[in-house]
Formats: sequence, structure tokens, C-alpha cells
Amino acid sequence: TQTGLSRAEIVAERKAKLLPNLSISYSEPIKFVRGEGVWLIDDRGRAYLDCFNNVCHVGHAHPHVVEAIATQAAKLNTNTRYLHDNIVAYSERLTATLPPELCVAAFACSGSEANSLMLRMARTHTGREEAIVLDWAYHGTTQELIDLSPYKYKRKGGKGRKPHVFEAVIPDSYRAPDDWPVEEHAKRFAASVAEQIEAMRKEGGAPAFFLAESIPSVAGQVFLPEGYLKEVYAMVRAAGGICVADEVQVGFGRVGSHWWAFETQGVVPDIVTMGKPIGNAHPMAALVTTREVATSFNNGMEYFNTFGGNPVSCAAGLAVLDVIEQGDLRRNASEIGAYLVERFRAMQERHESIGDVRGMGLFLGIELVEDRRTKVPATALAKKICDGVRRRGALMGTEGPHDNVLKMRPPMIFTRADADLLVALLEETFEAVEAGGQ
Ligand code: PMP
Repeated sequence: TQTGLSRAEIVAERKAKLLPNLSISYSEPIKFVRGEGVWLIDDRGRAYLDCFNNVCHVGHAHPHVVEAIATQAAKLNTNTRYLHDNIVAYSERLTATLPPELCVAAFACSGSEANSLMLRMARTHTGREEAIVLDWAYHGTTQELIDLSPYKYKRKGGKGRKPHVFEAVIPDSYRAPDDWPVEEHAKRFAASVAEQIEAMRKEGGAPAFFLAESIPSVAGQVFLPEGYLKEVYAMVRAAGGICVADEVQVGFGRVGSHWWAFETQGVVPDIVTMGKPIGNAHPMAALVTTREVATSFNNGMEYFNTFGGNPVSCAAGLAVLDVIEQGDLRRNASEIGAYLVERFRAMQERHESIGDVRGMGLFLGIELVEDRRTKVPATALAKKICDGVRRRGALMGTEGPHDNVLKMRPPMIFTRADADLLVALLEETFEAVEAGGQ
């Protein structure tokens, strides 16, 4: 039996006491009281298969992570100006997952803070402000990051693009012009970055940095064409800028084949920012950079973050790496992700509205369209499917400029049985919705 406030009471209290800008998932909100592995359990004892929430990277309430946090919290938690083993142990373990050039770490408490630090570094290192971002990107919640996030500044409440920000088109192969040969997608989409560098040059500027998610997620689970980042990084570096990979959503082995999604593009960024999965929901974030950038950033002004890199956070981070490594979870993500893509492709044969299926490891998207030829986004259908799947017991989201991409990022411990259940619930929902139901 559950104690506490009813759902309606919490909604009313939130209305009374919290910022109204904070939204709630689903029109009939859910009150979760417990998480365990791939499951979230609500106040009525119902379990939902969590396929969305990529913060609980190794599963909700993972005992090894919980124990690491609790043990350290019972002993000591303090700031990073004192000596402690955990921060150096974690830096060592974290940088070991990255290419050797990326060898200097800094810690923060959120993905936004990591990206804000990146901004300070890139501006100090290059002496410039100009930024290139991809359309419909999201990089964080502070004003300076909203300025780098078309997803925010172009929408209601946003104030539009600032003069120091330059937008390249989203390299979405599914929506590329029909007459572009697939093998030229990388070059053709990268031309948009060249145009932005040229636009800066005309104004007497040059790029401080290029910033992109290694798999643009908010833009709709868009997988960059093979070779795209190689093309872009070369252009940006030739113009004197640095290259930044935002791995807040896609990092920590989610793509399976590699620790970091940028690796699938065969490039090495100058800065990588990390967040969400890093502490399995413990608020923690990191930035890793090269010795060169770290050295030029050391210009006399300190970077100090009161909570960043504290002993408890680093204990959480270490425990997450233990679980990924000991459980061979990258291999699991590869296998289960490939299986899900295969099952989703089989569903695509039965359901006309499934325009595209894409995925790498446990980072997956199903794009819904009104018509496969015209590719008109099926926004209302995506919402219906997402709601229908929730009613049947699984959680996913919708994403993209038209909110027509079903977005899934299940925990790295997702099993084949979990995958079968997800597919069964999705299939049932598609059939019901196609028959006019919900
Ligand atoms: N970058 C990306 C790609 C994100 O998705 C997010 C969060 N949705 C952030 C940065 C900001 O992270 P946080 O909310 O932890 O500040």
C-alpha cells in the first residue's frame, strides 16, 4: 500500500508551488514510486517497461551503484579542493574509455554545466565567439546554451538566432533530396557547414567551434551519414575552430560497438561533454578534452564547481563503469539493439505508416509518416502510438521537429525478453490504432 499524495493532489500542488513552465509527461500523468532494473512501478503497483529514460543507464536502482553512493555518502562528501582518491580514480577510468588525445577531465553536475564549461574553453582557446550548431539541436538550459539550441530559440518563447550562432542543416538521410546518391550524403550535407563558415568569413569572423550531438536526438534520432563528421571536422579545423561532441544522451556505450558515438564516425573531437547516464541518475556530468585545449584554458581564471567531482558523484561514476564493463553491457546493447531494429523492420512491412526505422545499439527511432512517398510527418499518429503503448505498459517518447519519431533509449541491461515485450506492445498498439481504436 502506498502513502503520500494522490496524483490529483500532486498535480494541484505542482500548479500551486512550482514554475508553470515545468511540463508533466502524458495527459494522464503517472506517479512512480519505485524503479527496479528496466521497470518503473507506479502508485497502484503497476509496472511499466522503461524504454525512454536514458538516465537509468544500467537499470533503475542498480544495487552496485546504490551501494557505492550510500557507502561514500555515509563516509565523506565534500568539494574538490581537498585531496580524494575517487576523483583521480574516476578520471583515470573515464579517460581510458576515450582515444588517447582526450586525456583531461573536468566535472560538473548537469549536461548544461558541462556544455557551459565547453563554451568558456572554446572561447578562451580560440579567442572567438562564433558557433556552428545543427538545426533543431538542444544543448542545455542556461541562456547561453539556449542561444546554441535551435530547438529552443526557434520555438514559442524563443527569441530567434543570435548573430554569433550559425546553423547548419540537419544531415537527415531519410529526408535528403531524392537525387542525392547515398554515398554523397556526407559531402552534400557537410556543404551546409562550409556555407556557414563562408557566411562568417563575409562578416569578418571565423568559427570558435562546431557543436553537435554525435547522433542528433532532439532532431529525431538522426544518424549522421557515414563520413559526415570527418568532412565537417576538417572544414572547421581548417578555419581555426575546434570540434565538440555532445554525448550527453548517446555516450557511455549506448551505441554498443563503441564507448562513444563519435567513434562510429572515425573522428576525435577536441572536447566531449557527458551527462545523463554517467551516474545512473545521480546528478553528475563531465567534460573531457585534449591537453592542448586544457592548457590554453588555464589562463588564470579558475574553474571551480562546488558539487562537481565530489567523492559521492565519483563513486557513482565508478560504479556505473564497473557495471558496464563487468556485465559486458556494450555487447548486450549491440545485440539487443540489432534484434530490435530487425523486429521493427518486420513491423514496417506490415504498417504503411512506418516510414523509417533507425538504430544503433540501444538508441532507436521509428519515424512515422502519412505517406511513404511524400513522407508527410504523422505527428498525431506518433502521439497516439506513444499513448497507446503507455496504456499497455511501456514508456517511450516522441521527438523531432514534427514530433513524429518514436524515440527509445532503454537501459543497457535490456534483455531479449524485454525486447519481445516491447515489440508485442507496439504491434498491438499499431493494430488497435489502425482499426480506429487507441
Ligand atoms: N545536451 C543534450 C544533447 C541533452 O539532451 C541535454 C538534456 N536533455 C543536455 C545537453 C542538458 O543536460 P542537463 O539537462 O543535464 O543540463
